[in-house]
Amino acid sequence: MNLRFVVHEHHASRLHYDFRLESEGVLRSWAVPKGPSMNPSERRLAVQVEDHLLEYIDFEGIIPEGQYGAGAVVIWDSGTYDLIENKGDKILFFLHGERLKGGFTLILLKGRGSGNEWLLIKKKDEHARSDWKLDMSLTPERRANLKERNPPCQTS
Ligand code: MN
Repeated sequence: MNLRFVVHEHHASRLHYDFRLESEGVLRSWAVPKGPSMNPSERRLAVQVEDHLLEYIDFEGIIPEGQYGAGAVVIWDSGTYDLIENKGDKILFFLHGERLKGGFTLILLKGRGSGNEWLLIKKKDEHARSDWKLDMSLTPERRANLKERNPPCQTS
C-alpha cells in the first residue's frame, strides 16, 4: 500500500508547516510551527488539527482574505511513507520525500495542553543530518504564480 504524505508551507497569520499523513482515506494533520527537521536532536512541536480531505493533498494557492487560514499555501515536501508501527500515542513511519527521508516518530505529549500536542522527531539513521536547516519553499516568484483558491475543505 502506497500511503502518501505532504507538508504544506502555510503562510497564514503565522507561518507554519502542516504535516499530513494519508491514513484511512483522510489526511491526519499536524501543524508544526517551526517545521519538520532532519536533525534528531530537534524535537518539533506538532499540534494535531482536524483531519483533512484527501483531495487537499496537492492543494497550492492563496486562501482568500477573510477565510480561515487565509494566506499562501505551497507544498514544501511530498512523497510516500511506510507505516512501521502505530500505537495510538506513538506513530513510527519511514518517509520517502524529497526533503524528508528516513525514520520519524510522532509522540503524543501526555498531560499537556488539550491532548493534541505531539512531538515530531527524526530517527537517528543514515538520513539524519545534524547540520540541517529548513529552507522555505515560497519565493516571491512562486508567490506571483499562485492563484487565489478556495481549499476543498476548511483548513487550519
Ligand atoms: Mn495550516
